[in-house]
Amino acid sequence: MRIKAAVCYGEREPLVVEEVELDPPRANEVLIKYVASGVCHSDVSIHQGFLPRDYPLILGHEGAGIIERVGEGVTAVQPGDHVVLGFIPSCGTCKWCHVGVPILCDLGAHIRTGKMIDGTARHHSTKDGRDLHTLMFISTFAEYSVVPEASVVKVPEHLPLEKLCLLGCGFTTGFGAATNAIHIKPGETVTIVGCGGLGTAAIQGARLSGAGKIIAVDVQEAKLDLAKKFGATHTVRSRGNPEEVVNEILEITWGVGTDYSMEFVGGDQTDDTVRVAFNAVRKGGTMVMIGVAERSKQNFAIDPYTLALWSKRIVGVLFGNAQFRVDIPRYAELYDQGKIDLDGMVTQEIELGQINQAFDDVLAGDRVIRSVIRF
Ligand SMILES: [Zn+2]
Ligand SMILES: [Zn+2]
Repeated sequence: MRIKAAVCYGEREPLVVEEVELDPPRANEVLIKYVASGVCHSDVSIHQGFLPRDYPLILGHEGAGIIERVGEGVTAVQPGDHVVLGFIPSCGTCKWCHVGVPILCDLGAHIRTGKMIDGTARHHSTKDGRDLHTLMFISTFAEYSVVPEASVVKVPEHLPLEKLCLLGCGFTTGFGAATNAIHIKPGETVTIVGCGGLGTAAIQGARLSGAGKIIAVDVQEAKLDLAKKFGATHTVRSRGNPEEVVNEILEITWGVGTDYSMEFVGGDQTDDTVRVAFNAVRKGGTMVMIGVAERSKQNFAIDPYTLALWSKRIVGVLFGNAQFRVDIPRYAELYDQGKIDLDGMVTQEIELGQINQAFDDVLAGDRVIRSVIRF
């Protein structure tokens, strides 16, 4: 079938919205009609070349839609089901899925290839027939996609997919980091460095966990104002002055530092943002690294003396350590109950044709938490 998709022909080249040929689903695959897709910072990081990929490529990895057709052997979903897509699939049969860490599912080894699990492509150019690469099997900057059954999870039909799409990446990554990767006890304290989509989701996770002080750090005043709306109790503006930022956090915590810190800066990560997160943590505390730094960045600046003598812990977290088949319906329930705010995370809804502007908005840093494409 012919569909419309935003095709990326190379790093930093404007995405081209055009007709694309999409194959029918094969065994254990489903055809999805996307209703909405968030524009995540990682899409832009790939486009900027910070996370290398093969081209041409259809980006997008934070989607929600309706199952249109299922391939042979599909049992988990049927046509008409509303689903959110996980950007890491979960096969349900490998060792990692069995021990409860599906973010490490063996199928994840294929997500960087730009091909489907069987090594072939479903999207093709209508101009010359060449294969188009998929992003993480799901390529959500498209009206339809064919994706593995392992990448979808059913969600209740009465909830708006244009909000639930955030559960496919940003919200789950941030909220899960605060509620799965660490276990904040009521009254404990946390520093959140970087208050975009992930950071604001983490603030909500910390708030629901009963955190005492939630200290938000960002360079943008606008993001700090938003951080307060999501539950930050204190904000610290960073202006290239990491020592002062840490001193302010120490002052807020009676000289102790916070029990936890989380670094969400990702593509813009610098030695300073890491140092703030590390030095904000008290002795024996835990620093969580979530934002994905530029691929070429091979180390970060942590003082090993303090790490050992202050008995600190540094933990890496992927996709919020989510068990996405369990967690995404759980978060949908929290949204239904009004206990988490997804609406406030969506700054603007756009059409697919406005995708390049949406990328510029991400790069500007201060304009949007999330742009969501409505199909
Ligand atoms: Zn993402
Ligand atoms: Zn698995």
